[in-house]
Amino acid sequence: MLSYLHSFHAGNFADVLKHSISVHILDYMTQKPKVLFYLDTHSGTGAFSLKQAEAQKNQEYLNGIGQLWDLKTQQNLPGLVKNYLDLVAEFNAESTLNHYPGSPWFAQFLLREFDRASLFELHPREFKTLTANFADDRRLKAFQADGFHACLSQLPPKEKRGYILMDPPYEVKQDYQTAVNSLIAAHKKFATGTYALWYPVVDRYRIDELENTFVKSGIRNIQLFELGIHKDGEQGMTSSGMIVINPPWTLKAAADEALAFLVKQLAPKTGFFRSEQLVAE
Ligand code: SAM
Repeated sequence: MLSYLHSFHAGNFADVLKHSISVHILDYMTQKPKVLFYLDTHSGTGAFSLKQAEAQKNQEYLNGIGQLWDLKTQQNLPGLVKNYLDLVAEFNAESTLNHYPGSPWFAQFLLREFDRASLFELHPREFKTLTANFADDRRLKAFQADGFHACLSQLPPKEKRGYILMDPPYEVKQDYQTAVNSLIAAHKKFATGTYALWYPVVDRYRIDELENTFVKSGIRNIQLFELGIHKDGEQGMTSSGMIVINPPWTLKAAADEALAFLVKQLAPKTGFFRSEQLVAE
């Protein structure tokens, strides 16, 4: 189908959750002096202008990074939020919020010179921009392929340490099932990897099914983090989450603190969060 373009949504409340958790994982995994492999199954372009027509159409970033930008110099921010905001500020270079980074950029910034990344993006326009944005970095290799399936060819990585982010557009309803199948197959090939799957809450029953499939999959040590700005059942995406397999041991406590803070900032009246150990270690 390929009609989804992330530039319409960049920096929204879902990106805040996805990218702040992803930054924590990358930060943790790059502390050890051992080589790391990063795999982004649905990369997007890696960089977005918030001033251009696509971002301006619905101004979704105003419900996300737009609510946090002015807090970036505040003392006592939760660590997970501060690390994320520091990187968004780094990406902007000016004191005004004009740009928003995509998942490959956060990884590019945090990976060390000896680390490696594979980026998958299927959309022709997005792939062209992605390759142009990262052409001068030999650590990152972009592939125009279906990330759900092609990711399997990269696993297990020779580095034996890896973080795999799966961030599909869910344009078609099968994406929910395809994502779980793909992650279960990936985990069979590389059981010690850290995996994060982003999901939107539009129809809650789909997420209940998604969680059940993971619970019954036999995979151990799965955590779930969700940040909602409206209660279930209202129109559109009311909430979104990340399901993380083999999370850093630091993630749960950091996310507990961050999610409580983010709900207060983004949706003090109608918001909620979830932070759960979905399957024990
Ligand atoms: N991960 C990006 C970020 O955080 O900045 C955003 C990704 S966006 C939610 C989903 C992307 O997946 C879109 O750029 C879309 O073109 C791409 N896409 C759609 N189907 C795909 C597939 N089967 N394989 C790889 N990419 C796909």
